[in-house]
Amino acid sequence: MDKYFDVIVVGAGSIGMASGYFLAKQGIKTLLIDAFDPPHASGSHHGDTRIIRQAYGEGRDYVPLVLRAQTLWNELEQVSGDKIFAQTGVLSFSPEGHSSFLDEAIASAKAYSLPIEMMNGTEVKKRWPGISVPDHYRAIFEPDSGVLFPENCIRAYRKLAEENGAILLTNVPVTNIQVGKGSVSVETAKGVFTADRIIVSGGAWNGKILSKLGLNLPLLPTRQTIGWFEADEDLYRDTVFPAFTAEVPEGMYYGFPSFRGSGVKIGRHDYGQPADPDTLNREFGYYPEDEGYLRNFLESHMPQAAGNLKKGSVCMYTKTPDEHFIIDRHPSYPHVIIAAGFSGHGFKFASAIGERLSRLASAWKPDDILPLFSINRPTLQKNDEL
Ligand SMILES: Cc1cc2nc3c(=O)[nH]c(=O)nc-3n(C[C@H](O)[C@H](O)[C@H](O)COP(=O)(O)OP(=O)(O)OC[C@H]3O[C@@H](n4cnc5c(N)ncnc54)[C@H](O)[C@@H]3O)c2cc1C
Repeated sequence: MDKYFDVIVVGAGSIGMASGYFLAKQGIKTLLIDAFDPPHASGSHHGDTRIIRQAYGEGRDYVPLVLRAQTLWNELEQVSGDKIFAQTGVLSFSPEGHSSFLDEAIASAKAYSLPIEMMNGTEVKKRWPGISVPDHYRAIFEPDSGVLFPENCIRAYRKLAEENGAILLTNVPVTNIQVGKGSVSVETAKGVFTADRIIVSGGAWNGKILSKLGLNLPLLPTRQTIGWFEADEDLYRDTVFPAFTAEVPEGMYYGFPSFRGSGVKIGRHDYGQPADPDTLNREFGYYPEDEGYLRNFLESHMPQAAGNLKKGSVCMYTKTPDEHFIIDRHPSYPHVIIAAGFSGHGFKFASAIGERLSRLASAWKPDDILPLFSINRPTLQKNDEL
């Protein structure tokens, strides 16, 4: 096998696999290396579904990126013929005056003329009888948003990347990276591979990988749980019920309608234990709160979806202190490009970030780095929990 490439992508998960596709499509000689066999259930992309929202509560600066991402997901669905996106709509609700997330989502919809419907708790209950909220709650519904199927997305990009000439090594962890003048060598049990540039997109392992390159970034992997619960299909199936986010007194939650009898899937966004990805306890139910927090929300807000647990799973976030991403060049090695810290909300952008990273790794243009994601931004302070 050839040992020299234009670009090596270290970590071919959500972000890395999309990058590999966009690189290979430009005729760039690309090697993708992954420690597992993507898509897989050991990182941050498994669990069947991810929400894509356009009115962006985390900041209106994300809107152009998510709009580009949606276009690219739609293209991927057309080109691959796989089921990539379901336009279920997304509902976000919280008590009146309680949520800066909702305020920012509304402001971003205004700034970019996105279609949203604003409603109160009474209207929410009338439209979706499966939801139980006080009358004074407020909500927005985004009809154009919905659900991505992450394993299908990664499988589709993998197939297209390989069809366009990318080489993919699976079940091959990168053990070390050596930076030379104008080139980078990547060490694995299958040999040493060299490239002009590399993209480091190792998800929850990025902190460990980048420490080999002298960087100590404030990246905190956390253990997150998700559960699928038996639900009244008449109320919660995907053709009548939206994906949702909720900022309620119990915490910040998100969830999905029941797809073909899967049950309602739910996760808690604002709680997760710090974790080491190499020793993570992947057994759902090991801690009482694994299921307990999820069931609490359903019992209060979606009681006919609080049936038996059908299945549960453990996944990882990788958080930065300000919960914005890091997409930038290594401060000392400009031919090392970093995509890290997706802080539990990165999947929806993977297509557009992959496209952007492929440009960064091929024809460097400074405007491909957004200030929001800069490695030098002041809000990217050291995380006390590390
Ligand atoms: C429970 C849960 C729910 C979420 N919900 C949403 C949502 O609704 N909407 C949304 O937009 N986002 C959501 N996210 C976040 C989103 O899934 C992540 O931000 C995204 O998947 C991160 O992508 P990544 O490429 O960084 O990581 P991954 O997809 O995990 O990819 C990293 C890859 O690097 C590989 N790797 C690691 N170390 C090495 C090594 N040494 N050598 C080679 N390969 C290596 C891994 O095997 C892996 O394949 C959620 C995340 C979780 C956990």
